[in-house]
Amino acid sequence: MKYDVIIVGAGPGGIFSAYELMTTAPELRVAVIEAGNELKKRHCPIDGDKVKSCIKCKSCAIMSGFGGAGAFSDGKYNITNDFGGSLYEYIGRKNAIELMKYVDQINLAYGGEGTKMYSTAGSAFKTLCVQNKLQLLDASVRHLGTDINYIVLENLYKKLSESVDFFFNTPAQKIEKIDGGYRVITKKGEFEGEHCIVSVGRSGSKWMETVCRDLEIGTQSNRVDIGVRVEIPAVIFQHITSELYEGKIVYRTEKFEDRVRTFCMNPNGIVVTENTNGIVTVNGHSFEDPAKKTENTNFALLVAKHFSEPFKDSNGYGENIAKLSNMLGGGVIVQRFGDLERGRRSTRSRIEENTVIPTLSATPGDLSLVLPKRILDGIIEMIYALDTIAPGMANDDTLLYGVEVKFYNMEVELDENLETKHKGLYVIGDGSGVTHSLSHASASGVYVARRIASEK
Ligand SMILES: Cc1cc2nc3c(=O)[nH]c(=O)nc-3n(C[C@H](O)[C@H](O)[C@H](O)COP(=O)(O)OP(=O)(O)OC[C@H]3O[C@@H](n4cnc5c(N)ncnc54)[C@H](O)[C@@H]3O)c2cc1C
Repeated sequence: MKYDVIIVGAGPGGIFSAYELMTTAPELRVAVIEAGNELKKRHCPIDGDKVKSCIKCKSCAIMSGFGGAGAFSDGKYNITNDFGGSLYEYIGRKNAIELMKYVDQINLAYGGEGTKMYSTAGSAFKTLCVQNKLQLLDASVRHLGTDINYIVLENLYKKLSESVDFFFNTPAQKIEKIDGGYRVITKKGEFEGEHCIVSVGRSGSKWMETVCRDLEIGTQSNRVDIGVRVEIPAVIFQHITSELYEGKIVYRTEKFEDRVRTFCMNPNGIVVTENTNGIVTVNGHSFEDPAKKTENTNFALLVAKHFSEPFKDSNGYGENIAKLSNMLGGGVIVQRFGDLERGRRSTRSRIEENTVIPTLSATPGDLSLVLPKRILDGIIEMIYALDTIAPGMANDDTLLYGVEVKFYNMEVELDENLETKHKGLYVIGDGSGVTHSLSHASASGVYVARRIASEK
């Protein structure tokens, strides 16, 4: 099967590459090869009734398929260079922001109109943070919500499938360099194209390693963020979430001078599990639909861990910590903050008596048996620091779910065009290690598509 451009992966990176190619270079033949299902066939078997926890499907419906890892996400598109990736280091700050705004306009045009844009600009909350040793990062946030995010993806798929060929349930096995382009080998056949855009996200990270090894593309990996997901009554953070939706707040611990940050805030949302390569970790969602809102807000508290030589497997370190919680709890562990502080495990009866009612059925346990002391100390310090700006945060009944791990894909050696040393082979989105978010991944897709279109 011969194409001008082969895109591997139909997450936001792949989708926006395809979209931009379709609009700026409609004469190009484009194929998208995706390991998972099309959107409407993506169903996680966990129903809370017959299937209560992850059964480790061959292709995880949460992480794979049209829409990628972002399909059932909260759909928060952060327009900022302060977090979400380092795209600006490759393409410049102004360009990166312009592309993120462009992606926002497309999302609005395909079903996101009417959703709210939040901003930290001029927020009094910033001063309150500084006064309490906390730093509020700058951003504008478009909150689509899980439901609208899905509608946008449905509409984009409808439009794209008019001119782009999609191949679902077709994991790419190998990429070979051939005369005048690349050959992508799958069980369902071989695809050849002059250009190849690889956008395989976090779920494709292990495969990406083999691609880089085979094609001798340089990589490096030295970071992982480890922590917990906190669940509190929504009223405690209401003054923050109603103004900013998501406050990205950073704290430097006194003990170790580690950076702890809030991440992925879900006002009135739910806590969910996530499966990365068979390891069950925790995450969160929230919905625009008032009927689906809960009384709780959840967000992650993550401690950034950077390793130095000779250690190279930062993700392996995070995976092993997550495996410990899976071993002890059969999946995710939940603990009351009061129990953690008293050095005892949470039990089913203590969780049942808790005033904060958990939105995820997790195993009551003891996170101090899972998380390294340095990380746990950082999280506890951060909880007390947040209590100064949001009293109630450090209540005994605050729930902590563990573990949450933010894996960073290895960074692939790329030039300013996000092109590898092999001409025509681009690596974008989270799979490149350059981005860690919906808006950055999408923007990287547009960027590379424009580059390819400009060569024609
Ligand atoms: C539960 C959850 C909530 C999130 N919420 C947010 C949020 O609110 N805001 C935010 O900015 N970010 C959020 N994120 C992160 C965001 O989803 C990712 O940053 C984004 O999806 C990255 O896009 P991508 O295209 O690079 O990769 P992905 O979205 O991971 O897409 C990669 C695709 O490639 C496919 N693939 C992998 N390997 C192969 C292969 N060998 N062959 C073919 N296909 C392959 C996968 O099946 C997948 O569909 C969330 C993530 C999760 C899991």
